[in-house]
Amino acid sequence: MSYKIYINGEYFDKENAKISVFDHGLLYGDGIFEGMRAYNGKVFRHEQHMDRLWKSAKAIHLTIPMTQAEMMKAVDDTLALNDLRDAYIRLVVTRGVGTLGLDPNRCATPGVIIITDKIALYPKELYENGLEIVTASTIRMPSSSLSPRIKSLNYLNNIMAKLEGLRAGCDEALLLNHQGEVCECTGDNIFIIRDGKIYTPPVSAGILEGITRNAVIELAAEAGIPLFETTQTRHDVYIADECFLTGSAAELIPVVGIDGRPIGDGKPGPITKELIRRFREMIA
Ligand code: PMP
Repeated sequence: MSYKIYINGEYFDKENAKISVFDHGLLYGDGIFEGMRAYNGKVFRHEQHMDRLWKSAKAIHLTIPMTQAEMMKAVDDTLALNDLRDAYIRLVVTRGVGTLGLDPNRCATPGVIIITDKIALYPKELYENGLEIVTASTIRMPSSSLSPRIKSLNYLNNIMAKLEGLRAGCDEALLLNHQGEVCECTGDNIFIIRDGKIYTPPVSAGILEGITRNAVIELAAEAGIPLFETTQTRHDVYIADECFLTGSAAELIPVVGIDGRPIGDGKPGPITKELIRRFREMIA
């Protein structure tokens, strides 16, 4: 099935969904994006995604050429046009068409792209059995260089780590920051559980403030499970009882091994399973 793709207010078939080679999104990775999910015809935490997109835009000095309400309508319209009720949505805002130089002021209008599709990021077995990850030697981009809170089109830092993961036979890789503290995986936030308590790195470690991460923080509070946003080291992950990752695409997925060491007994743990159950209830 080929779904129609929204580009600057018009819809195109996949084969014809094209942008200029002079778009700075392509030339420099100058732009921002969101990855969202629709469940039962409703975009999950739509407003929060808009809020993050607009904050990313502000940080890179980019004016999105529409209001948040117009953007949300464009997303809803694209889903409706494609008759998609459960979908993954990739919303991209590029700096727009410019010259070969870096100067963003030469890009007249930002480009807006909305791609909607069905996805299954990981096979079903991995949600039941958990996945293995590896620590990458690639360090997460320090906030002082480019804040990981900006969801920018420049994902090379993450891709370098992803390549390391794939070379090690793992679907995800863990990035540490320049101080050796745990940050996040290449496209997911990380949580660990020890002695009945949940821990996740603080935003100040240099991570993307995930929408799913925030949902899990709420779910843990509802479930009465203590959760701490505190600095984690790789050692903390090694000695954790349980571990899981969160992301719009991945949702919640158990991690059962890291760097060749089993986490806990090497099986998804009870708190992880309980949070997955509660998350499914939340999106239902
Ligand atoms: N960290 C990174 C680097 C990401 O790219 C993503 C999104 N794929 C996440 C975390 C998870 O964020 P969210 O829950 O908002 O999808």
